[in-house]
Amino acid sequence: MEESSVVKVFVFFILLVALTTVLSNVSTNMWGGKPETLPEGTELIVEGGMTVMEFGSRNNIPNPVLKKVLGLESKSDLQKPLASFGQSREQLQARVDKAAALEAEHESKNWVKIPVKFGAWFIFLGFVFLMVRKGKITPRVRKALYVTAVILFGIILGADPSPMGTVKDAIHLYGSKKVVFLPRMIALSIFLFIVFLANKFICSWGCQLGTLQDLIFRLNRNSKDTKGVLAQYKMPFWFSNGIRVSFFIMFTIITFGWALDIIDPIDPFKVYKPAVLGAVGGTLIGALLVASLFVYRPWCQFFCPFGLVGWLVEKISIFKINVDYETCIACEACAKACPSTVMEAILKQDKTIPDCFTCGTCMNACPTGSIKLSAGTRNKPPADKFTR
Ligand code: SF4
Ligand code: SF4
Repeated sequence: MEESSVVKVFVFFILLVALTTVLSNVSTNMWGGKPETLPEGTELIVEGGMTVMEFGSRNNIPNPVLKKVLGLESKSDLQKPLASFGQSREQLQARVDKAAALEAEHESKNWVKIPVKFGAWFIFLGFVFLMVRKGKITPRVRKALYVTAVILFGIILGADPSPMGTVKDAIHLYGSKKVVFLPRMIALSIFLFIVFLANKFICSWGCQLGTLQDLIFRLNRNSKDTKGVLAQYKMPFWFSNGIRVSFFIMFTIITFGWALDIIDPIDPFKVYKPAVLGAVGGTLIGALLVASLFVYRPWCQFFCPFGLVGWLVEKISIFKINVDYETCIACEACAKACPSTVMEAILKQDKTIPDCFTCGTCMNACPTGSIKLSAGTRNKPPADKFTR
């Protein structure tokens, strides 16, 4: 191992993380926007003889929220007695809490940025899909595409929305307020549809955190992208996925039981809005990024709720990585180069195939060009082709 290569790894890593956080800070300030925090439910003041307008002003409830809660049809409804709507105090409290939560969700979103980001995702992912299909992703091109994704979907277009955020926030909003925010469910359906079409393509090439971790991992790889400059480790899938499932269950139980979002303080997507990071969050995210040099996409494999849901949907993806066993010479160069244990599991026909990030590293490594991103069921190797 050359000392200069090791120094290079760390210098590029520090530069990348420093530039990402500094430029993201500038970009976040330019976009502006309200923080994504759910309003605390305060006890309502309800008095006999109150009009709707008095009820609203005593409880600081904005008119759009009042309109939703009581189904007001015109301004004159504000003068009606509150009692004429036939709502008990408990019913009013529940309705106001839900409507205020929805209003806060709506207000915290940048409705210009979101469609722009989805448009950029469609164009970029469509382009990369064609590149992967044609086998044009060389190690240099891969890095350049990750740099582009980090700049575009992270630094410029920010931490939100993200595939992970759609799953986490949907669970948290429903668990704590029993509210479903429709635009988020639409975004989540789009992300899952992309997984259904092409094997976690959104994670592979579009997720602002996934691509940052991947780029960091590749900083610590040789020029052919076949192994680490410094040692890199592949975690057994039962171990990484076991932690991911446990984390998902724990997050869900805590959000339903105590209305707490345990991911929020350590949310690694906040690398793109560093100003809101606390000391604990900053330290943990720093550790995660350092770990990304040695383990492939640690957040995705060990913790991400979308990673888990996407892995399940990936089982029915139309396009996936496939090996042509007619031309394959069983050298297993692909499995060695694969940053995770996926290709090994595919060759050995394991019952459980880990998340494949469609990175195309196996395609580069294959000396006979036997690996493609293709539609349909995965081919199975002849029984005696690969032995343990
Ligand atoms: S699994 Fe990774 S790439 Fe996919 S949403 Fe989560 S962080 Fe992003
Ligand atoms: S099998 Fe491994 S190397 Fe090949 S695309 Fe999937 S994750 Fe990448």
